Amino acid sequence: MIEVAFLGSGSTGNCAVVRAGRTAVLLDAGLSPRQIAARLGKLGMSLDDVSALLLTHEHSDHVASAGVLATKRGLPVYGTRGTLAKARLPGPLFADLRPVACGDEVVFGNGDLTVRVTGTPHDGVEPVCYAFADAAGRRVGVVTDLGHLSKKVLGALAGCEVLGLEANHDVDVLREGAYPAFLKKRILSDVGHLSNAAAAAGLGRLLGERTRAVVGLHLSKSNNTPALTQRALGEAIERLGAKVALEVAGPDAPTGWFRARSAGGNG
Ligand SMILES: [Zn+2]
Ligand SMILES: [Zn+2]
Repeated sequence: MIEVAFLGSGSTGNCAVVRAGRTAVLLDAGLSPRQIAARLGKLGMSLDDVSALLLTHEHSDHVASAGVLATKRGLPVYGTRGTLAKARLPGPLFADLRPVACGDEVVFGNGDLTVRVTGTPHDGVEPVCYAFADAAGRRVGVVTDLGHLSKKVLGALAGCEVLGLEANHDVDVLREGAYPAFLKKRILSDVGHLSNAAAAAGLGRLLGERTRAVVGLHLSKSNNTPALTQRALGEAIERLGAKVALEVAGPDAPTGWFRARSAGGNG
């Protein structure tokens, strides 16, 4: 069994926990260490249960607490060389930094959890997303902070049992909203953030026979609402005739666990 919970999602801070067997890893650390610990507690976990931190890219809503978790908790920190260099982490003498590259597969907990690294189109130095698999090959894929769904990302995440997908903004709300022109342009660019419509369009490629749940992530407070994301992704799921649970993760409280189980099993 493999499962994921989103401790917080949005431009104020991103952090998720992925667990398979006895092994758990954090995906990004954009919440305060105290919030990460408290929200893990609500899920019945503590930081002691976590064996590594994986970073997607160096933007502060993803790495704010990475340094503290690396030094005070001794968590090994995985990320691309570009991300590790720009994430304002303590040097290698003080933190256990473990560079990964696109295409790498990293194995945790004697094979409990395997993580695959894929590059993402975003305006960080060397951003990536991760696809997680348990020993039986059940998969959880999570991707945020990308301007469009590239072929590589689609290939890496297609058919996951649980899919966490950025649905950052409604294009019309963003265009008509109060953001300055340069920021609108950045968000709408090919290396910015994924809109509700782009996420919805991508579901045709991403949903597979085994997909059980889709979670909308990294919603903008100013340029989106959970209802807009629910509607955009919900309509796409309905059009595709998929039997998939749909939820939206928020910034202020953790979601529950999203679980990938074998067909018909209880595991
Ligand atoms: Zn972000
Ligand atoms: Zn970013």
